[in-house]
Amino acid sequence: MIAVKGKGSYLFDINGDAYLDLSSGIAVHGLGHCHPAVVAAVQEQVAELMHTSITVRHPQYIQLAEKLAQVSPGNLNSVFLANSGSEAIEGAIKLARYVTGRPAIINFQGSFHGRTMMAVALTNSKLYYRERLEPLPGPIYTAPFPYTHRSAFHDNPEACVKDCLHQLRELLHQFVDPSQVAAMIIEPILGEGGYIVPPPGFFSELRDICNAHGILLITDEVQSGFCRTGKWFAIEHEKIVPDIMVVAKAIASGMPLAAFIANKELTSQWPEGRHGSTFGGNPVACAAALATIKVMQEEKLDKRAENLGNEMLTRLKKFAKGRKHIGEVRGRGLMIGIEFDEPDGKPSKPIAKEIMQRCLDNKLLLINCGSHSQVIRLIPPLNISDSEMEKACEILEKSMDIKEGDVIHE
Ligand code: PMP
Repeated sequence: MIAVKGKGSYLFDINGDAYLDLSSGIAVHGLGHCHPAVVAAVQEQVAELMHTSITVRHPQYIQLAEKLAQVSPGNLNSVFLANSGSEAIEGAIKLARYVTGRPAIINFQGSFHGRTMMAVALTNSKLYYRERLEPLPGPIYTAPFPYTHRSAFHDNPEACVKDCLHQLRELLHQFVDPSQVAAMIIEPILGEGGYIVPPPGFFSELRDICNAHGILLITDEVQSGFCRTGKWFAIEHEKIVPDIMVVAKAIASGMPLAAFIANKELTSQWPEGRHGSTFGGNPVACAAALATIKVMQEEKLDKRAENLGNEMLTRLKKFAKGRKHIGEVRGRGLMIGIEFDEPDGKPSKPIAKEIMQRCLDNKLLLINCGSHSQVIRLIPPLNISDSEMEKACEILEKSMDIKEGDVIHE
């Protein structure tokens, strides 16, 4: 499909066919395609000021930094703007290393943090992101993420969390001295890794371990941020505050923009000029972000995501009952994953692929994730209408109704 136009929840291809878009440009279009308020803000800004050098600030940068500090959890109030999620990840790691004077980073299994060299070194959701690229920057040590469905404790989330934390403590005992660890970096909900929500208790223990050893906790909200999960940022569900938070994607409705946000006490230890970006935080992208955040606040899209997400989860879990090929339905707000299993319980890429193709044939656009591409993710615009969502659910449920003897196209 070659898209030429986007409007609200729909994408239009070169033939003029309309596709209901539940992929949202991979979680970028929280407000749907080309929201009029964002388009107007961009058009206005583009005629006034498009770029300044890094040494000359502009009002949109300052206003956006203040706004981000307002919506961010806890005391996160110092903002650096970048162009992409990967670039912001790099910046967050540089900040952590500089401030702590420590080299090592701990990441988690199934993570995706981007495609630049350090970001890809921190990524292991699939081998193909990193193969033939080594040697990658380090030192990086990988701890398990509590992925209950595929763990040995798959009926017991509590035991899964306990086991993962045990392995993390062992890692800090056997592989790397905690005094050498600058930061742990983690997605509050694994994105590319399979839309995996950690069971309760995991994050509060992580926070405690970091505190005990002076390790900074970096949360990657690139995919889960900006109301997607029913809160402004997914980490708020865990009732902890990270030391550094990385955001991108939905921040500016499709204009290239990202940020890492920390507390001033931390960033003030990083002398001016140690980090920079020519285009990061340009006025046009900032104007788009300010308009995006305003609409999200005015329309309370965090609540909309929570309510519609709960309805969807209930409906899809009910649909999954008795259908053995649907291994698990999970998620938070409008970040929902449906995992498919083979009859022997192994992850099923072919079933996920077949269902996505059936949906596409019916003009419903979806994307997959998971280390075996066995999960379909639902990331609709947060302002999708009830009737659009109903239409999407009908197509999806019909496509997932796989019967014995159905041909699964590989
Ligand atoms: N972190 C997460 C959690 C992501 O999902 C992504 C993009 N899929 C990135 C980082 C990298 O962002 P970008 O593609 O903007 O560099």
